[in-house]
Amino acid sequence: ESQLNPNYSFENFLEGDSNRLARSAGLAVATKPGGTSFNPLLIFGGVGLGKTHLAHAIGVDIKDRYPEKTVLYISAEKFTQQYIDSVKKNNRNDFIHFYQIIDVLIIDDVQFLSGKSGTQDVFFHIFNHLHQNGKQVILTSDKAPVDMQDIEQRLLSRFKWGLSAELQNPDFETRVSILKNKLYRDGVDMPDDIIEFVAKNIKSNVRELEGAIISLIAQSSFNKKEITLDLARQIVEKFVKNTKREVSIDYIQKIVSDYFQMDVDTLQSKTRKRHIVQARQLAMFFAKKFTKASLASIGSQIGKRDHATVLHACKTVDNLSSTDKQFRKYVEDISKKLSV
Ligand code: ADP
Ligand code: MG
Repeated sequence: ESQLNPNYSFENFLEGDSNRLARSAGLAVATKPGGTSFNPLLIFGGVGLGKTHLAHAIGVDIKDRYPEKTVLYISAEKFTQQYIDSVKKNNRNDFIHFYQIIDVLIIDDVQFLSGKSGTQDVFFHIFNHLHQNGKQVILTSDKAPVDMQDIEQRLLSRFKWGLSAELQNPDFETRVSILKNKLYRDGVDMPDDIIEFVAKNIKSNVRELEGAIISLIAQSSFNKKEITLDLARQIVEKFVKNTKREVSIDYIQKIVSDYFQMDVDTLQSKTRKRHIVQARQLAMFFAKKFTKASLASIGSQIGKRDHATVLHACKTVDNLSSTDKQFRKYVEDISKKLSV
């Protein structure tokens, strides 16, 4: 079982400036798996920009060209789980052997391996074996190798051996063609001005772009309403609002430093001045509370601290807010600012 999704094809992966390098590198790899210098090929970029789609497309295309090759797609999360199970069941060697005989290994979201040293270690050995035998490795990640946290240096250096290609936010024309292609495949007619309206307003995530169109179609068919610009406006508004609610660590630092009337650089600085330390600890606390980022990732984004510092900050804020009335007010005020 290759675990590949045939709907994620190259044909359906619309080309634009934002993805041209990654897409062509993917095609080159698909034409000659293991036979280009793009090994590993690492595709990186933000959420919903097409990493998983492109990774599948490469695998699907290889399977078409070389039916005899074994191609395997797996998320780093599942890979980790399998590894842990193999250790529990005492068949770590079978696990390693299984992966060493694959021709094309595609691992999605390798940032998930952060901090998981056992899995990184086993992957390092599998990677070396595959690479030495001219097998192709394709990886995706939400960050460039230089920005990855808690991944062993020797693995990071392997990631940099081949090509790292970024998927960026698609420009307006590409967003329009992605939508038109989707509508065409679904057999739905939609006026150009509505497509363009959606493409103009949802900019940074192809999944949301598609989501908005899907809910537009659903709304109009459930309510037997025509698809109008007005309906599009209501739906886009919901999408844009929802995205804003997902606060970023940058945004949290901005709100906290504004609250204490300092700038973000000060909040991140190395100083031990009590009010600055407290502001920094609050930013860490809220980053833990309001984002899905790991302690390590929070630390690195708030003044390059380590995960233990963030953990300590969270505990300190918890303690102080139960013992110190003034401090509790800080927490409440900032909470309110972050929740609107
Ligand atoms: P990621 O893995 O980067 O979070 P996905 O690969 O899951 O993103 O892509 C999200 C959605 O956007 C998928 O439905 C995918 O088909 C679509 N998509 C992304 N980029 C493109 C593109 N260039 N052309 C067509 N569809 C795209
Ligand atoms: Mg993905």
